[in-house]
Amino acid sequence: MNRSDFERACREQNAEADKRRSDARKDSAPCVVVTMFAFGGIPYCQTHGVMGPCPYGTQRGSK
Ligand SMILES: [Zn+2]
Repeated sequence: MNRSDFERACREQNAEADKRRSDARKDSAPCVVVTMFAFGGIPYCQTHGVMGPCPYGTQRGSK
């Protein structure tokens, strides 16, 4: 794989990830939250690509 192939593949992957996230936001997909220990233990929603409290997902059990 040469360099421009690699860069194109990266862009395609990024575009796919962006699309997945915007679809997930529209659909109110359930959050998949991990703790980012590298950033001081703050939560990060992998589904929606949001750091900190995620405003997109279906909130369950709160209140
Ligand atoms: Zn989320």
